[in-house]
Amino acid sequence: MGEAREPGVVTRLYVEEPLSPGATVTLERDRAHYLKNVLRAAPGQTVGLFNGRDGEWRARIDALAKQGATLVAEARRREQMPEPDLWLVFAPIKKARIDFIAEKATELGAAALVPVMTRFTAVSRVNTERLRANAIEAAEQTERLSVPAVREPVPLARLLADWPPERRILLCAEAGAARPIAAALHAFAHDSQAAAAPWAVLTGPEGGFAAAELDGLEKLPFVTAVGLGPRILRADTAALAALACFQAILGDGRGRPPMRDNE
Ligand code: SAH
Repeated sequence: MGEAREPGVVTRLYVEEPLSPGATVTLERDRAHYLKNVLRAAPGQTVGLFNGRDGEWRARIDALAKQGATLVAEARRREQMPEPDLWLVFAPIKKARIDFIAEKATELGAAALVPVMTRFTAVSRVNTERLRANAIEAAEQTERLSVPAVREPVPLARLLADWPPERRILLCAEAGAARPIAAALHAFAHDSQAAAAPWAVLTGPEGGFAAAELDGLEKLPFVTAVGLGPRILRADTAALAALACFQAILGDGRGRPPMRDNE
């Protein structure tokens, strides 16, 4: 359990309802149980609420019972801030590691989690509901004001056929010929169109991409193949390393935008 930042705030919760002064929000059984029996919260105490649209609100616990809880929003604690439009498109992997991807990608600020079925993907079913639960929990603990969208798994060919061409893809290609990720991202940081574009990181399964998949991807104008160093990383490590590099160089980890010559 992450510690709430403001004293007296029991926890932060993601909700779907609109948030405004006096808005009431109800929690179903599981979350009421969590508040009451795990966090030992009581009516009158304060929680933080966010819904991905209205910022973060201070809310008072009005009623708290086994079957459910009622919260009343009181005042906004934080404005909704724009977040990087960065998708993680990843070949799904086994249970514990895919949960890890959902949690850590949320912490790293991914805006969407998109499972993609590739030739060597060994997992045939993805529990997107569980991925979403992991993403919500991570967002609650990490002071995010949004929860990444979790998409249904899609075959690679379909994904690319429907791909919005303005969204660039950073393809993690383990083959040695790919450009080092930092060099590619630094170049894009100086290209105003690329720096302002929405992006996606794409990683393959434990078996890697098929040669034909890599060839096809690298021909697309919106794809840049990058390497993450001389070691072969596990799929989960590769996804998170690429997201961290992206955020540090082109995303919200770089602080204020780089100075222009005339500043
Ligand atoms: N098929 C590979 C291993 C795949 S690793 C083999 O055994 O040869 C799983 C995925 O992680 C890859 O598809 C790629 O997207 C990413 N990845 C792993 N290591 C990488 C590296 N050094 N650079 C870029 N991507 C990497």
